[in-house]
Amino acid sequence: MNVEIINVGDELLLGQTVDTNSAWMGLLLAHHGYAVTRKVVVSDEPQALRDALTESLQRVRIVLITGGLGPTRDDRTKEVLSDYFAAPLAMHAPTLEAVQGYFERRGLPFLEVNRLQAMLPTGPGTAILPNPRGTAQGMWFERDGAVVVSMPGVPHEMKGLMEEEVVPRLNAQFERPVRYHRTLLCYGKGESYLSEMLGEWEIGLDARGVALAYLPSFGQVRLRLSATGEGARALVDGCVTEAAELLAPYVASTEHETAAAGVEAAAAGRWLAAAESFTGGAIAAALTAIPGASQWFAGSVTAYTERAKRELLGVPADVLAEHTAVSAPVALAMARGVRERLGADWAVATTGYAGPGDSPEVGTAFIAVTGPGGRERVEEFKWGRAREVNIQRGVTAALHLIWAEMRAEEEVCQKKVV
Ligand code: AMP
Ligand code: MG
Repeated sequence: MNVEIINVGDELLLGQTVDTNSAWMGLLLAHHGYAVTRKVVVSDEPQALRDALTESLQRVRIVLITGGLGPTRDDRTKEVLSDYFAAPLAMHAPTLEAVQGYFERRGLPFLEVNRLQAMLPTGPGTAILPNPRGTAQGMWFERDGAVVVSMPGVPHEMKGLMEEEVVPRLNAQFERPVRYHRTLLCYGKGESYLSEMLGEWEIGLDARGVALAYLPSFGQVRLRLSATGEGARALVDGCVTEAAELLAPYVASTEHETAAAGVEAAAAGRWLAAAESFTGGAIAAALTAIPGASQWFAGSVTAYTERAKRELLGVPADVLAEHTAVSAPVALAMARGVRERLGADWAVATTGYAGPGDSPEVGTAFIAVTGPGGRERVEEFKWGRAREVNIQRGVTAALHLIWAEMRAEEEVCQKKVV
């Protein structure tokens, strides 16, 4: 079942806001067996949305729209759709009550523009999808076997509506082939290298009805294997096992889609800490994005200057003087320091020259891990000159390194028990 997405907003065209909505929707829809076949961004100009909608409805039976539902004058989606589907606006009592409650709970004045948000399209084939996260409601229009849904642009409001209202309603209405996919998370080699390793095996996938997609990000590659219809699960599971064997040294996981999720699983009740120099807290951000991280993530110290490394982490001054701040001994001392100071079982530390610039040391980084039983590891990395990329690579490398060490420790423990 094909779907088209229309994103509305001048800010998306100007580049002030990046369209993350359609990417998120694409993943969710694929998971439920829908194929997003086209997405467009249009301005706030009413005619732009009308044109885009007319075009989409010539191709597909499901069109999802986000944006243009705010209370301000620039947001026109509701009026355009009311007119387009001849669904006149009327005061929607449940919404008025909900929106008033929303303002009361926050102690905010309830303005006329907010009251107008409860003026919603009515009529046959029109439904209001409640949005408990904000004041703009979702709207559902059905015409001649096609469905058009409008949602607010605010990402978390859109996500809530998609998961709680839109997808369940679509699923009830549209037959879809059973689609099954799994991901292989690889670390340490780029996509071309991995593709070489798969060789003939990858070429043979087509004939077996399995699709393979490479999803590279800085420092890691996700391989997504998918198939459709009866037997898809067994087929994909078999292929995952085969691919994991072929790529063995570089497969981080066949279960976890991100390194942070793997770290969480491996933590299993033990405490983690981080000491971050050039990653500037980005490791902490990746880990604390996981709900419940307070059960296993003790914290992170961003120690940027040498003084901060000495005073916050106890890195010895003579080690700094002898080896410089970007060195294996300093990375290790940072990891040891934060592990001890935060009373953690495991710690990871980063230090490096993120760049940009021409100086030869740019792109050099050291990452250290320290854990129970004296387990320690330091790795040196040589990356490129782009600061942002080096920071991302640092986070990815740090997460994979600590994850790998935690799993190695777990294996040793299991052997001891046996
Ligand atoms: P709107 O529904 O047009 O009032 O949008 C509300 C907010 O959501 C705006 O501030 C936008 O920055 C944000 N937004 C709108 N569309 C998108 C999108 N496609 N991806 C990410 N954010 C968006
Ligand atoms: Mg807008």
